[in-house]
Amino acid sequence: MESERNKRLLQDVLARPGNDVCADCGNAGLSSDFLEPEQETLGQWEIREPDWASVTLGVFVCQGCSLLHRGIPHISRVKSVQQETWDASEVELMAAMGNEPAKAKYEQKVPAFYYRPKHTDCKLLREQWIRARYERNEFEFIEKQEPYSAGYREGFLWKRGRDNGQFLSRKFILSEREGALKYFNKQDFVYLPQARDPKAVMKIETLNATFQPAKIGNPYGLQITYLRDNSTRNIFVYHSDSKEMVDWFNAIRAARFHYLQVAFPGASDEELVPKLTRSFMKEGFMEKTGPKHTEGFKKRWFTMDDRRLMYFKDPLDAYARGEVFIGSKENSYTVLPGLPTSTQGYHWNHGITIVTPDRKFLFACETEAEQRDWIAAFQRVINRPMRPQEYAVEAHFKHKP
Ligand SMILES: [Zn+2]
Repeated sequence: MESERNKRLLQDVLARPGNDVCADCGNAGLSSDFLEPEQETLGQWEIREPDWASVTLGVFVCQGCSLLHRGIPHISRVKSVQQETWDASEVELMAAMGNEPAKAKYEQKVPAFYYRPKHTDCKLLREQWIRARYERNEFEFIEKQEPYSAGYREGFLWKRGRDNGQFLSRKFILSEREGALKYFNKQDFVYLPQARDPKAVMKIETLNATFQPAKIGNPYGLQITYLRDNSTRNIFVYHSDSKEMVDWFNAIRAARFHYLQVAFPGASDEELVPKLTRSFMKEGFMEKTGPKHTEGFKKRWFTMDDRRLMYFKDPLDAYARGEVFIGSKENSYTVLPGLPTSTQGYHWNHGITIVTPDRKFLFACETEAEQRDWIAAFQRVINRPMRPQEYAVEAHFKHKP
């Protein structure tokens, strides 16, 4: 039968190198690396082959990415590999292209700093990556990359107000030459052109950006952090246009990349790219007590950002109530499940004790799963030896008033 024959031919194409993972997000089958932590602990290995194909672009993609392809029907028409019938011309097109040749075509000139999303990243990043590749052909024509590669970018973003939580339009300027991202009150620009003092100057040196749609309550919500006087500051922004938002994100990455190239001459792209932006290792509510351990426990929002454990009264606070440096086991940092037996005043039953050279920190989690995830996050950091520059960061924490 014709359709059986086509299906067999399609299976042969699918078996070619590169067609076993999603062309867009790299999502593959049979690897625990690609499973969510919750699935990992179930001890189940899920087979996730790309079951979908774009019969116009000639690429095999995962289900998640196939849904995003449906958003560009003028470019891509997706079909199920297993569930639909294929005609000979469609199979021929898949055979003529495939994931590796598509990569060579659509990823000719991806800048080193450009963020390539994984299947666990937010929908915004995955969707814009697909549109950038196939709809805008951004990586075939470098002039299309100017919005994020020019070293200068200005525009308006909705920024969450520190006091009332309202999002207001603010002018932002990112300048590699000045080494900073700045923002201004809009009315200063419109009514008082001379009053151009920025509301904040965020040095590219300490800048970080991470998409936080759930926490911010907006699908395009971006958290920007920077250090001021060695303390972390947060701002929360979004743009109503998804491309604009991702362009801002990549512009920040480009600025960081060029900054680091100067700061670490001779470092390879592979060494610098992981340092451009980072996601937090873990966030969530825990209870904490004070240094005497008799102050009573209070619920706080915690963010583990590399070796900085910060706590906030509200997840969207502009700055942390406190920050704790988490060193390595070689430097006498330890994390233990549970609380000292004499501890009182906590409401949540799943305790964590962090021992540092100076004091013990006591936390309580609401669930056992939270306790386990937090301990795993602390353990990852504690097990990693400290880099030379991290000793300087640790010293800053010690000398804090
Ligand atoms: Zn995918």
